[in-house]
Amino acid sequence: MSLRIVVTVKYVPDATGDRHFADDLTVDRDDVDGLLSELDEYAVEQALQIADEADDAEITVLTVGPEDAKDALRKALSMGADKAIHVEDDDLHGTDAIGTSLVLAKAIEKAGYDLVISGMASTDGTGGIVPALVAERLGVPQVTLLSEVSVEDGTVKGRRDGDAASEQLEASLPAVVSVTDQSGEARYPSFKGIMAAKKKPVQSWDLSDLDIEAEEVGLEGAYTVVDSATERPARTAGTIVKDEGEGGKQLAEFLAGQKFI
Ligand SMILES: Cc1cc2nc3c(=O)[nH]c(=O)nc-3n(C[C@H](O)[C@H](O)[C@H](O)COP(=O)(O)OP(=O)(O)OC[C@H]3O[C@@H](n4cnc5c(N)ncnc54)[C@H](O)[C@@H]3O)c2cc1C
Repeated sequence: MSLRIVVTVKYVPDATGDRHFADDLTVDRDDVDGLLSELDEYAVEQALQIADEADDAEITVLTVGPEDAKDALRKALSMGADKAIHVEDDDLHGTDAIGTSLVLAKAIEKAGYDLVISGMASTDGTGGIVPALVAERLGVPQVTLLSEVSVEDGTVKGRRDGDAASEQLEASLPAVVSVTDQSGEARYPSFKGIMAAKKKPVQSWDLSDLDIEAEEVGLEGAYTVVDSATERPARTAGTIVKDEGEGGKQLAEFLAGQKFI
C-alpha cells in the first residue's frame, strides 16, 4: 500500500520586504514578494526522507492562499514532492487560523492521506496552532513539534525536545505531525528538480470544490478580528560610540542606562 503523505505549506510575505496592513487590517499581500514559509521547508524535507525509507510513498503538497501561492508549491515540488493542490478563492481573504484549518482539513480529506506533515509555525502569523486544529477536525491523533520523525508498520514515531527532557512519541496512522527547525537541514532544489517541477501536476480547488460556504471563512467567518494596527516606528540610527580610549566605559554607561546591566 502506498503511503500517502500530505504536506501543508504556507506562502508568506518575504520578511526582508516592507510589510504593511491593508485598509481592512489584513496583511497587504498584493505587490509584496512572497515565498514558501521557511519552517515548512523542514516539513517537506522530512516527508522526502520518510518517502525515501518507505517501499512506496507519494507526497502531495497543499496550500491555501492567493494566486502567487503557487510559487510555494513550485518550490516544494522542485525539492522533490510528487504533486500539489492549491486552494484559492477570493472569499478566503482575511481567513484566520480556525478558518484555514477548516479548508485544509476538507482538502486533505478530499485528497486522501495517511500522514499529514506541517511546519511548527508560519513565519508571518506564527500561531503554531493550525496542525492541532486540522487534527481535531480530521479526528486523528496529532504529534506536534517533533525534531525527529519516522514511519514504521503503520505507526509514526518521533522525538520532541523540551527544555528539561525529550519525549519519544508515537501514533497510529492516519495522523497529523508537525516538525521543528531542528529536524534536519532542508535540501536545496537541484537544477534537475526545478526542471522536473514544471511538469508536476498542480490541482486547483476553490471553496465550492470543498463544500465550504463563504461565510465560514474570510473576514466574515473569522473568530479573531484585528482591532487596530499601527506601523512600527522607523528605526533610529542609534547611539554611535567612537572609542577614543573611553569606549568601554561609555558602552557600560549606555547599557547601565538602559538597565541591561
Ligand atoms: C501578522 C499576522 C497575525 C495573525 N494573527 C492571527 C491570530 O491571532 N489569530 C488567527 O486566527 N489568525 C491570525 N492570522 C491569520 C493566520 O496567519 C492565517 O489564518 C493562517 O493561515 C493560519 O495561521 P498561522 O499563520 O498562525 O499558522 P500556524 O499555525 O503558525 O501554521 C502552522 C503550520 O500550518 C500550516 N499552514 C498554516 N497556514 C497555512 C496555509 N494557508 N496553507 C497551508 N498550510 C498552512 C503550515 O504547515 C504551517 O507551518 C495572522 C496573520 C498574520 C500575518
